[in-house]
Amino acid sequence: MNSPVVAIVGRPNVGKSTLVNRVIGRREAIVEERPGVTRDRKAVDGEWQGHHFTLIDTGGWIADGDSLDDKVSAQSEQAMQAAEVVVLVVDAAVGVTPEDERVALLLRRSETPVIVVANKVDDAGHEAAIWEFMGLGLGDPFPVSALHGKGTGDLLDHLVTLLPEGSDQEPETPLLDDPELYSVSLVGRPNVGKSTLFNRLIGEERAVVHDRPGTTRDAIDTIVETETGPIRFVDTAGMRRKARIDEDTEYYSLVRALKAVDKSDVALLVIDATSGVTHQDQRLAERVDGAGCPIVIILNKWELLNTEQREKVGSDVERKLGFLGSPPVLRMSALSGKGVNRLWPQLQQAIGDYRTRIPTRDVNKSIRAAQSAQPAPHGARVLYATQGATDPPTFTLFANRELPPTYIRYLERKLREDFDLGSTPIKLRVRRRND
Ligand code: GDP
Ligand code: GDP
Repeated sequence: MNSPVVAIVGRPNVGKSTLVNRVIGRREAIVEERPGVTRDRKAVDGEWQGHHFTLIDTGGWIADGDSLDDKVSAQSEQAMQAAEVVVLVVDAAVGVTPEDERVALLLRRSETPVIVVANKVDDAGHEAAIWEFMGLGLGDPFPVSALHGKGTGDLLDHLVTLLPEGSDQEPETPLLDDPELYSVSLVGRPNVGKSTLFNRLIGEERAVVHDRPGTTRDAIDTIVETETGPIRFVDTAGMRRKARIDEDTEYYSLVRALKAVDKSDVALLVIDATSGVTHQDQRLAERVDGAGCPIVIILNKWELLNTEQREKVGSDVERKLGFLGSPPVLRMSALSGKGVNRLWPQLQQAIGDYRTRIPTRDVNKSIRAAQSAQPAPHGARVLYATQGATDPPTFTLFANRELPPTYIRYLERKLREDFDLGSTPIKLRVRRRND
């Protein structure tokens, strides 16, 4: 079963996000965003005394309507529809407001169980204030200080009694740590359009997005569920919203890119086509390539270029990024979305390649042909080869003596060509064996 949904509703600034953070606290949390309503609607998996539930923080979950009623009802109705339990957060320091009353009215009419949380009860002195909230007609309020972590234990004890049966079983949440997930990073200089592209990608229809918060805010991966399975976008902190400060420096983007690339199966190198291929683009490509990560080149802001400029960028890529071999090149406008959807088939192709399994007979045929076209120096020879693993394709070559690295790269290139492996990473292991 999926874990039951607990919706957190309440006016802005009453402390909803603080409460959610408190509840998931020091636990490994899984954040999930379901695009389609607003980006700000956050869902977080929580656990208490062996019970699993999903908290939906309705933080920015406000409808477009202008009137207070529109906003309140849209928010609460959505919450009630989705939820097994609704937690209405009110501010004990402020007392009952007309907005609280309106939400309460709606909640009283629904069948969904409701818990009223009187937040910001930081000390005993404020406790008396909570009885005012009895007037909302939704039962005894729970005094809580989300900020200081007071009262949340009692609240959760009560909450789990309202969850449907079965919440004490492991929910079927996707395993975000799955090492077999295909990982993609978006790299490029500042302002080339990485965030714009990323937001486009996660905004695409049917994409379900999971965040995996790391130990720091800097390391957030996003998993996008596409029709052909999940794809992990590595290190997406700061890509969701334009909330970045001055870390947008050349230096940071390089350091960050290299870290992300380390965890990736493919890097999307985003280039601002209006500036052509710059020296920094080239340097970044070298470093990513040097780290052994295959590259898909994205020429972004394509719509701003005239025909002549387009031709120039094309030849720029060949000239300045020629060392990459022939990586896939996609031209697009992340801003308008034009050309963006060509990326999915490209990634799917890459994933297919990643999972390819080639029969041993064919592997050996390819290696033999490569060796007769160009034998290794000093009588070195691959006697037998086999694909030992997929994700990524990993080949074991049994050789009579050590093969020089350049020769191993040559064989890798041949395998890649023969089996159309595109830009997927390939691992070659060489084992010594006597003839
Ligand atoms: P939201 O808009 O409802 O999600 O509210 P936030 O969680 O962003 O909190 C709004 C403000 O209230 C922030 O400045 C919080 O630090 C503060 N706040 C939240 N919980 C408490 C609390 O228990 N006590 C006090 N004194 N402040 C709190
Ligand atoms: P990042 O620093 O690489 O994440 O770049 P952003 O995504 O923040 O984009 C930088 C600027 O370029 C923003 O003003 C975007 O609106 C703009 N931008 C991004 N993609 C395109 C595009 O395809 N065409 C045009 N004209 N502008 C774009």
